[in-house]
Amino acid sequence: MTNERSVYTTAVHGGTRKDDVFGAINEPIYMTSNYRIPTDGTPVDWSGIHSNIYCRNRNPNQMVLQDKLCALTGAEDCAVFACGVAALTGVFIPFLNSGDHAIVSEVCYSATNLLFREYLPQKYHIEVTILDTTDTEAVRAAVRPNTKLIHVETPGNPTTGISDLPAIAAIAHEAGALLSVDATFAGPICMYPLNLGADLEIHSMTKYINGHGDSLGGCVLGKTELIDKIKEIAMVNFGGILSPFNAWLVARGLSTLPLRMAQHSKVALAVAEFLEQSPAVRFVWYPGLQSHPQHDRALKYMNGQYSGMISFDIKGSEEQHQKFLDALHLVTHAVSLGDIESLIVYYDKHSDKLPHYPEIYREGFFRFSVGLEDEKDIIADLQQAFEAAGII
Ligand SMILES: *Cc1c(COP(=O)(O)O)cnc(C)c1O
Repeated sequence: MTNERSVYTTAVHGGTRKDDVFGAINEPIYMTSNYRIPTDGTPVDWSGIHSNIYCRNRNPNQMVLQDKLCALTGAEDCAVFACGVAALTGVFIPFLNSGDHAIVSEVCYSATNLLFREYLPQKYHIEVTILDTTDTEAVRAAVRPNTKLIHVETPGNPTTGISDLPAIAAIAHEAGALLSVDATFAGPICMYPLNLGADLEIHSMTKYINGHGDSLGGCVLGKTELIDKIKEIAMVNFGGILSPFNAWLVARGLSTLPLRMAQHSKVALAVAEFLEQSPAVRFVWYPGLQSHPQHDRALKYMNGQYSGMISFDIKGSEEQHQKFLDALHLVTHAVSLGDIESLIVYYDKHSDKLPHYPEIYREGFFRFSVGLEDEKDIIADLQQAFEAAGII
């Protein structure tokens, strides 16, 4: 954090502009696709990102959200997109050329996985090495003379694996490559990847930043020089921009992010501790638990809050796992994460979402996004569902 104010204060006031026309204390929503262009003969820069021409170039609601994100993270600049995947391609397309090599976390979001396994190598001849980035030496060994990007997801989705960002940043920079980090699982509050050496920090704002499960969104944070390139190429020319209304919704969600993260983290730690001692459970991965494989990195690189994402594996048959899901009252079986309410996803034995972790399929693997409910109520819900399914 470069800002001296508390994150709570910055989340409320950062980026906010005053409405000079009517004095409204909330940011108006600028539902406009285009703007009046000066008629004084000034040349128009159709692809420009610094003047009001068209909503794909820029929009005040996007700008307020970008400023708020910069204020909260200390980032120099920010670009916002319609969703997290648009933000990710907004990094990969401008910074990778045919013949370049990229190193990518094997545990990463399914669209990122598919892009690097298939589309980018097959259609654009980009060389890709997919490996476990929690293993720093494996990253070092994979560097080639043409390595231009190292893309790390940390904490990894859904394993919560924590990569050593400062060490990987040093490897990337020595090789003349950029380090991009998808830190969606930590939100921009539990970890500051830019302060740990990342060049670009990416979030699916659909998750913690918006937090209310009512809008998609994505952002990239970093130095102006890199972000300008992303805006010029990915926003103006590839599209994928965030609508003014959704930018407004996400900015509203962002105002309470530090408050929500504190509660998500507190409740998740209590739930993880409950799961760890439950006879129904085979293993739990939560960066805040001492038993987490990279707990020492979580202590160093997270801010004492470990977010709301837990992965765990339970005993029983597939039929019992389905019964467990069906018996949950408070917790909903749904794919997204980072919402105010608790959401859980089941990766059954046939799921192809975790190709590198076959050992976890032995029984029942779940990704749990712990919401803002009280820990006692969540724990009671899990306990009664384990019992209803006959797992304990
Ligand atoms: C959800 C998610 C994405 C994709 O974001 P969308 O907003 O759904 O496009 C990318 N990375 C991670 C880690 C995610 O959880």
